[in-house]
Amino acid sequence: MAIAARGRAQLTHGFDYVPAPESTDHVRIPERHDLFIGGEFVASRSNRRFVTLNPATEEPLSEVAEADQEDVERAVAAATAAFASWGALKPERRARYLFRLARLIQERSRELAVLETMDGGKPIKESRDVDLPLAAAHFFYHAGWADKLEWAFPNRRPRPLGVAGQVIPWNFPLLMLAWKVAPALACGNTVVLKPAETTPLTALRFAEICLQAELPPGVVNIVTGGPETGAALVASPGLAKVAFTGSTEVGRQIQRRLAGTGRRLTLELGGKAANIVFEDAALDQAVEGIVNGIYFNQGHVCCAGSRLLVQESIADVLLEKLKRRLGTLRLGDPLDKNTDVGAINSRAQLDKIQGLVRSGIEEGAELYQPPCPLPERGYWFPPTLFTGVASSHRIAREEIFGPVLAVLTFRTPAEAVEKANNTPYGLSAGIWTEKGSRILWMAERLRAGVVWANTYNRFDPASPFGGYKESGFGREGGLQGLLPYLELV
Ligand code: NAD
Repeated sequence: MAIAARGRAQLTHGFDYVPAPESTDHVRIPERHDLFIGGEFVASRSNRRFVTLNPATEEPLSEVAEADQEDVERAVAAATAAFASWGALKPERRARYLFRLARLIQERSRELAVLETMDGGKPIKESRDVDLPLAAAHFFYHAGWADKLEWAFPNRRPRPLGVAGQVIPWNFPLLMLAWKVAPALACGNTVVLKPAETTPLTALRFAEICLQAELPPGVVNIVTGGPETGAALVASPGLAKVAFTGSTEVGRQIQRRLAGTGRRLTLELGGKAANIVFEDAALDQAVEGIVNGIYFNQGHVCCAGSRLLVQESIADVLLEKLKRRLGTLRLGDPLDKNTDVGAINSRAQLDKIQGLVRSGIEEGAELYQPPCPLPERGYWFPPTLFTGVASSHRIAREEIFGPVLAVLTFRTPAEAVEKANNTPYGLSAGIWTEKGSRILWMAERLRAGVVWANTYNRFDPASPFGGYKESGFGREGGLQGLLPYLELV
């Protein structure tokens, strides 16, 4: 009887979780970081440094060198010198280095996951279970390609391009590095990579891994800094190719900058994906997919399912389930293994989210946030959803890049397609229905690079990823992801 009564109380009030923080003892963060050029850590000639913070506590983690134009050119020169032998190396030898990098990422994954969480604010269970395994998988997958390229493109001979300049954002720092570096190296190119200014630490730890793997000097170079460093890199005349992942606005500037230079370019840009739920969907499963689609990594995801399109007949019941589920998400210390929603990556990103949420309220949409106490220090935003959203509202059109969902309704599949495609972006979409034929009918019509069916945010190195329209061009992953790094003769 007593046990039954206690069980009821737990059902009514939920469970209390005791804190389960991941230890940081095994992660030593140097006070200062230099640039990684030609196989060595070297001081910047600029003598400028910037501080990278823990966004959950606002405490400084390290001072990082800010590379200027001269530093960037030094890195490009080191990569050019290394290309002569790396590009000519027997493919099976290149494969061996890539396997070594993959194994070392796995071996050091606990350290890298903790560092990623401290520098970026994402929950440890995500960096541990998603970012790190996928980063290692990208190196393993591309190690497999390195000695098979010759047979990958029938009747064509693949040749490396030269030096690739790569600029990445802060939402998946090590994973985006892996998406860029692994295919470039597998194809015989050398790289100069610039991580984002708020999350440089795992890229610098990767530089240590390159040393540990005895990768020849200059094959991978890491230059840290902000937009100016990025602009200096993409403009370097020594590059054969530029690969950029980041905002559409910066992608546009880079495309203008490279026009007429003959240099290759791929752009992985923003998104405003529709996650579409039909009345015959398994609703509890769909609710999990919606939560994963928009609250995973605090919504700092280019392919986030930030617009929920729900069939009108089930809107009330689905929203009730979704609101109840939002109430169970635990926001707080990203290093706690129970945390679902971590810190917003930076003050600037928090300001942007708050501004767009204000616009949603001012334009007449209805805001819902579960009761959710926020820590006093750090950058935080509660899981949020808006109902009563019109397609014209800014929250339905602009990429928020935060834990904010805009809910719209539809009546027919044709209306769902029209609303889903009513965006300048075209990166991803989700479909929830029990009907296979409807999945195929929808997928054919959705203008999105990736369409998930009855799941969301699934990634595999063998599956090409990339956008249409203002979400960019070029693919990363799979056979298609090799093409931007090769010349076929
Ligand atoms: P951002 O464009 O501001 O910055 C991205 C990177 O570019 C950073 O390293 C930054 O320092 C650098 N940069 C800034 N200005 C530059 C310039 N003028 N020239 C060269 N480099 C410059 O974007 P962000 O805020 O860091 O990242 C969020 C954006 O990234 C979102 O729009 C998101 O959708 C997009 N993103 C896309 C994908 C994808 O695969 N499509 C993946 C992750 C993130």
